[in-house]
Amino acid sequence: MKVGFVGLGLMGAPMSRNLLKAGHSVRAWNRTASKVDAFVADGGEAAASPADAAAGAEVVITMVTDSPDVQAVILGEGGVIEGAAAGTVVVDMSTISPEVTRSVGAALAERGVPMLDGPVSGGVLGAQNAALSIMLGGDPDAVEAARPVLEAMGTRITYCGALGMGQVTKLVNQVIVAGTMAAVCEGLVFGAKAGADLQAVFSAVTGGAANSWQLENLGARLLKDDFAPGFMVRLQQKDLRLIMESATAMNLPLFTTPLVHHLYRAVEGQGHGDEGTQAYVKALEALAGVQARFPDA
Ligand code: NAP
Repeated sequence: MKVGFVGLGLMGAPMSRNLLKAGHSVRAWNRTASKVDAFVADGGEAAASPADAAAGAEVVITMVTDSPDVQAVILGEGGVIEGAAAGTVVVDMSTISPEVTRSVGAALAERGVPMLDGPVSGGVLGAQNAALSIMLGGDPDAVEAARPVLEAMGTRITYCGALGMGQVTKLVNQVIVAGTMAAVCEGLVFGAKAGADLQAVFSAVTGGAANSWQLENLGARLLKDDFAPGFMVRLQQKDLRLIMESATAMNLPLFTTPLVHHLYRAVEGQGHGDEGTQAYVKALEALAGVQARFPDA
């Protein structure tokens, strides 16, 4: 299919490559031009603007940071809305506010352009391996039209309901991810303070009922003193903020999410906002006066 792609960041870069590998014809735009040069070197085409990426495309993917960024690349000057023909399906795969998603979708609908929200889970590894879980909201016919493109990026494609429900599902995912990360770090700091052999702890616990994606992937990284992002602390903070805004609007009490959000503020205050979310452990370590690392890290 003819695909326009906007946003070649940590996630968008491998996702766009998987579209090329699957045989789709992809024209991409990124704010920082050097990332487009790398995409062209890998066999893609360069677009001069989001509108240009959308021109002639059957499906347009946006994968940028936050709600205002999606508004800018879709509705702003030179945005997708200026290039997309009626019937082009726009799939926003960023994690943003469900309310903003619905308002952007309404503006596109006035031009006859259907929008889906399709946020993802699975991290950079899932993006590289075309193994993302994609959470879709919007018109089921538009989902079917975009399916060949989605299947080139993900293995589990779930229809979650009307526009915005993909984002709601992703926020459920993030509540669970944040709480799990907090528990993984607290457990490992507990072990370190008690003088446990953390190699033995990691081996035993990953084989039992407390195992998780977070422990296996991010627990392993922090134990090896590897804090490179996958998913940056500052992006997780954006997601936790989105969760708390929605909870406030619903008058829903939350307990773990605000706690984790505030601990991550301490991590940011220590200067680690651009590190991976496993840097959560650094806030606990500063309080505990101990480090949770493998001896050879
Ligand atoms: P990233 O590496 O920081 O990339 C962000 C991308 O958005 C870059 O291409 C950036 O362009 C572009 N961008 C941001 N603001 C823009 C604006 N106002 N106008 C135009 N372009 C703009 O982030 P990422 O990790 O790929 O995350 C992208 C989205 O996926 C986020 O919503 C994130 O929450 C979500 N997500 C991430 C992960 C993960 O593990 N990383 C997992 C699931 C979901 P520049 O290159 O010019 O900066």
